[in-house]
Amino acid sequence: EYRLEMRGVSKSFPGVKALDGISLKVRPGSVHALMGENGAGKSTLMKCLFGIYKMDEGEVYLDGEKMNIINPDDALHKGLAMVHQELQPIPERSIAENMYCGRFPTRNYGPLKVIDHKKMNEEAQKWLRDVKMDFDPKAKLGTLSISQMQSVEIAKAVSMNAKVVILDEPTSSLTDNEVEALFRIVRDLRDRGVSLIYISHKMAEIREIADDITIMRDGTYVGSWAVKDISDQEIVKQMVGRELTNIYP
Ligand code: ADP
Ligand code: MG
Ligand code: MG
Repeated sequence: EYRLEMRGVSKSFPGVKALDGISLKVRPGSVHALMGENGAGKSTLMKCLFGIYKMDEGEVYLDGEKMNIINPDDALHKGLAMVHQELQPIPERSIAENMYCGRFPTRNYGPLKVIDHKKMNEEAQKWLRDVKMDFDPKAKLGTLSISQMQSVEIAKAVSMNAKVVILDEPTSSLTDNEVEALFRIVRDLRDRGVSLIYISHKMAEIREIADDITIMRDGTYVGSWAVKDISDQEIVKQMVGRELTNIYP
């Protein structure tokens, strides 16, 4: 009944055990917050899920089916999409070209792939409008703000029928208005049945947008709750591993 399940995920880097037996269960059509202090292993867990890192141990299930995700391209085609903390788009290419990039499995490219630019631009415009964005697909991606680039990444994920969209600290460089715009898109996706994994340190955002929460600490799994069942104080306590007072005065 879970959209995504990660079981017993471990990952070491030289000298650091970044993940030690992590579990994560995400329901269909939900926003699942992943919380933990800086260095807890949140980004590493998502990079393992997305095939950027190879996990040492662990299993991933998508709609109950065991997945072996070998790289980000593979992840995308299996229904996972990731909006990175550090965006990696190609700013000097157009919005449409960025939306096309990585869309087709590499094996189908053949030696020479001729792209019909008119069709590409029309398709990109349709995908953007589908998430209520009205950018000119021919504009260079680099002319957009960070939040607009994130919106393009999300539109791309939606157009590829992503079942799970990972947002890694997406609001760190956004204004309040941009955060609200992002949240409208997130809610719209959730209402369409997409599952979102939302990495953030910001308690107010978690309260506003998340349904469930999983907390990690020092590369270990602490626990999972419905957001309505856990207080801010308890979240902080679970994140840092001890009682704290006055850190959010
Ligand atoms: P978070 O996203 O929760 O802030 P990270 O997943 O970025 O945490 O990091 C978890 C731990 O793994 C940290 O100790 C970090 O230094 C280490 N780590 C992450 N990526 C690498 C890497 N590529 N090489 C070595 N150590 C890494
Ligand atoms: Mg970090
Ligand atoms: Mg991180």
